[in-house]
Amino acid sequence: MSQRVDLHIHSTASDGQMTPFEVVQCALERQLRAISITDHDSVVAIEEAQNCARDTELEVIPGLELGLAHRGADVHLLGYFIDPRSPELLKALDRFRRHRYRRGEKIIDKLNRLGVDLRMETVMAIAGDAPLGRPHVADAMVREEYVNSYREAFARYLGYHAPAYVPRSGVSLEQAIDLIHHSGGVAVLAHPGVLSRDELIPEMVEMGLDGLEAYHYIHDQETARRYVLLAHQHGLVFTGGSDCHGGRTSGRHLLGKVPVSYHCVTALRKRQKWLGLRSVTPS
Ligand code: AMP
Ligand code: FE
Ligand code: FE
Ligand code: ZN
Repeated sequence: MSQRVDLHIHSTASDGQMTPFEVVQCALERQLRAISITDHDSVVAIEEAQNCARDTELEVIPGLELGLAHRGADVHLLGYFIDPRSPELLKALDRFRRHRYRRGEKIIDKLNRLGVDLRMETVMAIAGDAPLGRPHVADAMVREEYVNSYREAFARYLGYHAPAYVPRSGVSLEQAIDLIHHSGGVAVLAHPGVLSRDELIPEMVEMGLDGLEAYHYIHDQETARRYVLLAHQHGLVFTGGSDCHGGRTSGRHLLGKVPVSYHCVTALRKRQKWLGLRSVTPS
């Protein structure tokens, strides 16, 4: 058994293209010691993956990824060791799902005005039960031949600076961190190198942020090292994962291919214990 882990994977429960079963199979083939399926605004893959991994040596750590707008930035927050049955969490995720649906309608509206005659039904057929995300819209645009590729859909229409972009709403960064904590989890800033707003990190630490995702497929070695160092400086843990979405962009090959050690899991567990102790200590 290797000590390698992948703590950032998406499944068909959000915008990934592998089912939870396929994610577990792939992780077993690659002899990973632990994985976390961190679906966008969804925890439904967790128990399924844990069941698939039962009687194997693969550990499936509960996780999720929340997206929100903060100071003009598209901030992604990972939550680890959350309780996927937490009523407060499930209620919030249900609310986010409804926000995502309404945002989808706004995106479609903008696309229609731009001459792309896409319909909500087409997009929802692709999303299925998953909370609606831009990748589902992009897939629909490729299928209906409004663009030649998934990437083109983001570059011309759906990306942050593109004309059909609609920001997420519904939750602030502070509320998202609290939600993860109240669900028993540890809050980690996803791919800070992609966000590229390091000046926001001290304030996030004040809000209770627990960690930085130092290793990510977009981060080069130097970037990863910088975030490990920054995590140490702020007393945070660091984590890492591939952000594999299955075949759509970078493919299945990405799963487990960003080298991350099991030490990250141990550090997350320690942090979770510390948070628990802190919350019962009278102030
Ligand atoms: P949403 O949650 O609807 O805002 O969509 C965010 C997801 O879209 C990310 O998790 C990625 O999977 C994908 N994504 C965001 N920006 C891009 C981009 N520029 N190119 C390709 N995929 C992207
Ligand atoms: Fe995604
Ligand atoms: Fe992300
Ligand atoms: Zn992700």
